[in-house]
Formats: sequence, structure tokens, C-alpha cells
Amino acid sequence: MNTVERLADQYCRIIRQNVSLADYTTFGIGGPAELLAEADSADVLTAIVRDCRSAGLPVTVMGEGSNVLCSDQGIDGLVVINRCRRLWSDGCKIIAEAGVGLGDLIDFAICNGLAGLEQMAGIPGTVGGAVIGNAGAYGQSVAEKLAQVILLDESGAVFQQGPGELGFGYRTSRLKSSPDIVLRADFLLVPGVPEHLRRCADEIIALREAKLPVNEKCAGSYFKNIEDPTAPYGKVAAGKLLEEAGAKSFCVGQAAVSEKHANVIINRGGARATDVLLLADNMKTAVRAKFGVELEEEVRFLGTPMGRET
Ligand SMILES: Cc1cc2nc3c(=O)[nH]c(=O)nc-3n(C[C@H](O)[C@H](O)[C@H](O)COP(=O)(O)OP(=O)(O)OC[C@H]3O[C@@H](n4cnc5c(N)ncnc54)[C@H](O)[C@@H]3O)c2cc1C
Repeated sequence: MNTVERLADQYCRIIRQNVSLADYTTFGIGGPAELLAEADSADVLTAIVRDCRSAGLPVTVMGEGSNVLCSDQGIDGLVVINRCRRLWSDGCKIIAEAGVGLGDLIDFAICNGLAGLEQMAGIPGTVGGAVIGNAGAYGQSVAEKLAQVILLDESGAVFQQGPGELGFGYRTSRLKSSPDIVLRADFLLVPGVPEHLRRCADEIIALREAKLPVNEKCAGSYFKNIEDPTAPYGKVAAGKLLEEAGAKSFCVGQAAVSEKHANVIINRGGARATDVLLLADNMKTAVRAKFGVELEEEVRFLGTPMGRET
């Protein structure tokens, strides 16, 4: 019995072999995970990750898969889907396990009369994914309200860090290039009136639905906006540059630029990761040629690197 078979056998109730990642991403794209575990308790998640890492297997954690493009070749080693969803409050603090949906966290805050997250209503994904990428919208971002995170490091140690140690920036943190896994995040909020907060969240959701494709397979904005201190709100929208560069008519195979938003790539059904990568290259080339600006991917590529041939 090799290592992969031994671990699959040891955790036979939780781990499956060769599971398609297309079912675990909002893009609906991705080859197989060699091993896939859906962990709904932090103890189980920690034990599986420790055992796989001691056996030399690479470990990748995913939440809702709403900000990733998984390789057509799949992902080697273990993929853990974080379904740890305990959520509680302590005064103005909310404590959330990393598998809690960001929407559930925001609803919980509103119901408890706590303000500071409501502008992020409508962003898909989990608390863990939101911390890793410093998710945000309409002037709020996760990092601003974070009191601390509990992390699991490569050696298997569990430790705490404050926001000052996490290297947060626009849609980034030091955790993006680290093996550390987010187990829990604590948010410090301020008192607010639930009815006002709910109205604000509902308005934001309506705005988002008018702007972004609904019911399409996608991973949200494919590229980051361009930071520019002279621009209103300090950013030039990548979608504006892409639209002016003519990207809305671009497609490769079943991957296409959304007609509703030029910075969103949609899977029209059966698109492959190679299609998306080629389409993204074409979008970058068009913006570079027209504006001399280099777009940077917001969506993370996970798994075995592939050639770009289709
Ligand atoms: C329609 C749509 C609209 C969107 N709008 C926005 C928006 O307005 N603003 C915004 O910021 N984002 C937006 N996104 C992107 C996405 O929703 C966010 O980035 C979200 O926070 C990702 O969370 P997730 O759980 O899906 O992460 P995943 O996609 O599962 O993972 C993202 C990255 O984080 C890592 N990761 C996930 N969980 C953990 C963990 N517990 N520990 C360590 N690493 C982890 C993964 O390995 C991966 O590298 C949008 C996406 C969609 C589909």
C-alpha cells in the first residue's frame, strides 16, 4: 500500500481519491484532487493535514473555490475543503471558524447589531478565503476589522497572529504565499442598528447583481484593479480598461468574457483551465497594447502547471 492509499484508508470516512475539482469551484473547472477531504471540525482538519504533511504529501486548502482556477491536470496530494463553520460572538467581537461563509458572518453581525462588514455583503466564499486574499468591496475590506487569526503552520503548530503580522494589502496578504492554514478569524466590530445595516447590505447586493453576472460559472473579477493614487478612490477599474480594449467580445473555447462585466471570465459549459489561461493572456495583451498597463491576476491558479496549448 503506498502513502496515498494508506491515508485514504486511515481516513476512509472523510478522504476520497481522484475527486473532480470542477464540483468544488465556482468556475466549474478543474481536474482531480489526488485526495480530497471535506473537514467539518478543526480537530479533524488539523489531524489530517498533520498526517499528510508528515507523509510528505502537499496540502492545499480551499473554501468555496470562488477565487481559484484549478488545473485541468488536477492537484497532487491532499485538497481539504474547509467546512468548519462554528460562529459565535463575545461583546463586539465575532469569532468565526475559517469555513464559515462570509455571507453568514455578515448576517450574524447584522442580527447582533454589529457594524463594519455589511458593505461586503454579496461576496461569495468563506472567512478563510476572505482573509487570505483580503477580500473587500465598496470601501470595506476584511483586514480592517480583523482582530486576530488562528493559524496551523507547516510543522503542525497552531498559533495566533494579529493583522499587523499578516502583510495585508489590496487583495493580498503574506498568507497567499505561505503554507499556513487559517483555522479561525476574530473580528472586532462596532455597535450598529440592525435595520440600517440590513438595508445597507440589501442595497449593496442589488448594486452587485446589476453589475456582475448572476448564475454564471465564474470566479469574480479575474484581474486586480490598478492602484493609482491620482485616480478616484485610488484605483483604476481593470474592467474599464478591458472594456475599452474591446475584451467583451473575446472568447477561447467555452471560456468567454462576460457581456455584463469585462473583468469577469465565464465558463459557458465545459471550458478548460487552458481556455481560461489563454483568454486571460489575450485580455492582458489587449490592455498592454492599448494602455501600456500590465494587469495582474486576482484569481489564483492551483495545481499542476500546464502548457498553454489548447
Ligand atoms: C461572483 C463573484 C463575485 C466576487 N466578488 C468579489 C468582491 O467583490 N470582492 C472580493 O474581494 N472578492 C470577490 N470575489 C472573489 C471571492 O469570492 C473571494 O476572493 C473569496 O474571499 C474567496 O473565498 P473562498 O472561500 O471561495 O476561497 P477559495 O477560492 O477556496 O480560495 C482562495 C485562496 O485562498 C486559499 N484558502 C482558502 N481557504 C483557506 C484557509 N482556510 N487557509 C489557507 N488558505 C486558504 C486557497 O488555497 C486559495 O489560494 C468574487 C467571486 C465571485 C465568484
